[in-house]
Amino acid sequence: MAGPITGGREASKPHAVCFPFPAQGHINPMLTVAKLLHHRGFHITFVHTEFNYRRLLAQPASPSSLQDLPAGFRVETISDGLPLSALRSSPRDLIALGDSIDRNCPSAFRALLSRLSDDSDSDVPAVSCIVSDSTISFTVYAAEELGVPGVLLWTSSASSLLGCLQFPRLIQEGFIPLKDETCLTNGYLDTVVDWIPGMKSIRLRDLPTFIRTTQKDDVLLAFSLRQTGRACKASAVIFNTFEPLDRDVLEALSTVLPRIYPVGPLNLLLSQEQLPASSRVSKTATVGGGGASFWEEDRECLEWLESRKPKSVIYVNFGSIAVATAQQLVEFAWGIANSGQNFLWVIRPDLMARGKPLPTEFTDVTRGRGLVTSWVPQEEVLGHPSIGGFLTHCGWNSILESISNGVPMLCWPFGADQPTNCRYCCTEWGIGMEIVGEVKRDEVEMMVRDLMVGVGGGESRGYGSGPAMRERAAEWKRLALEATRPNGSSRMNFDRMVREVLLSPE
Ligand code: UDP
Repeated sequence: MAGPITGGREASKPHAVCFPFPAQGHINPMLTVAKLLHHRGFHITFVHTEFNYRRLLAQPASPSSLQDLPAGFRVETISDGLPLSALRSSPRDLIALGDSIDRNCPSAFRALLSRLSDDSDSDVPAVSCIVSDSTISFTVYAAEELGVPGVLLWTSSASSLLGCLQFPRLIQEGFIPLKDETCLTNGYLDTVVDWIPGMKSIRLRDLPTFIRTTQKDDVLLAFSLRQTGRACKASAVIFNTFEPLDRDVLEALSTVLPRIYPVGPLNLLLSQEQLPASSRVSKTATVGGGGASFWEEDRECLEWLESRKPKSVIYVNFGSIAVATAQQLVEFAWGIANSGQNFLWVIRPDLMARGKPLPTEFTDVTRGRGLVTSWVPQEEVLGHPSIGGFLTHCGWNSILESISNGVPMLCWPFGADQPTNCRYCCTEWGIGMEIVGEVKRDEVEMMVRDLMVGVGGGESRGYGSGPAMRERAAEWKRLALEATRPNGSSRMNFDRMVREVLLSPE
């Protein structure tokens, strides 16, 4: 097992350049990987795009936390190739951002690598490996040119990558692109694809939504094909999952990808590190800004949770990218209000494209049993004993954080990999129930009750009730903890990846 590398000057250390995709759900896991590598004696260069770095610096927590950066952990920035004013919030914007990075960043990234390598006067060691987000996969070629290992971190679910890897065959067999727009609503997406190894009875609607296009040259589909194709060329792919959770999917992936390492849940891998406090990078210390959050965290919500009974609060949060309509929010609001349950609801300032978020009557009706805020320390919230359920958009980090805390979910998948994640939560792991189709207040009310107390009538409608899901979630939590403890599969996989790939010459 690779242990921390001690002694010697900074310049003699291995040096990992960590480059996340510039979105919240990608930065968090990459930051965790960077911290884990730093604990193992690596010098870290964490690469932010300029746009994001400025956003992080603008957070109130920034000035002091900038000084929290430990020795051997530095930040570099490069342009993402878009004007600083360009929008970067909706999923389509993010793909445009990904596309721009793919076109414009390779030369800036290579320039950064050669600057880091030429810096012979400083105490900065030569770059010895690159770990980048799998959606910034041109780094695989940059690593090859430099003669160092190029590893990709797949920040979404393993099943979503397995799904994306089927796109060429789905195109070949005429499933995609869709014949016309009616395929989105006429039941066509319920078509079962039964030939994907490791995926049972998966429907087209369960696959990542990049297939929901009528255009052969759709930018999302093309982007996805390009990025997943390159994953096969990486030295290794790291997955934020753990073996028992995704055994069949991982087995199928291991036949098509080079080397794969399931090392998650990364949040638990970091929190269960057994290192002297002096050598830890604190969980909140960060890389170029306050936590690495783009929005200011409301920590007072934790005090509010203190005042609630165990498992009595439903936590509602749709992540950092999803955008809801005013009508959807109103339906959620009345569903939650009528359920009679306590709630903590996070409404990001940009969750809605336009309009007034919540009806004023909602605030009056729910006074005393709910808190609405704009951004919270999610991992801490999900770990709070008062939380009994999570209404989520099924972002992969959110799901893993929920599993890590044994919290069952009400799933409202929004796009990208989220329908795949939702499918696994509800059907394979038995810890989620899905809101299908249009959001309706009556259904939300019933499902929230089912999730929280098991009396909404859900059993008769085909999904399991909350208490049974909570028991299964507790079991997954136990397995996740086991995987990330010393000698657990994820911890051993992480250390194997360091030894076999990052510390091995190509
Ligand atoms: N998050 C947070 N506070 C919030 C909302 C989200 O800290 O109020 C974090 C959450 O813990 C997760 C990430 O932001 O790590 C969101 O990633 P996810 O994959 O769940 O969804 P995305 O934002 O990419 O759609």
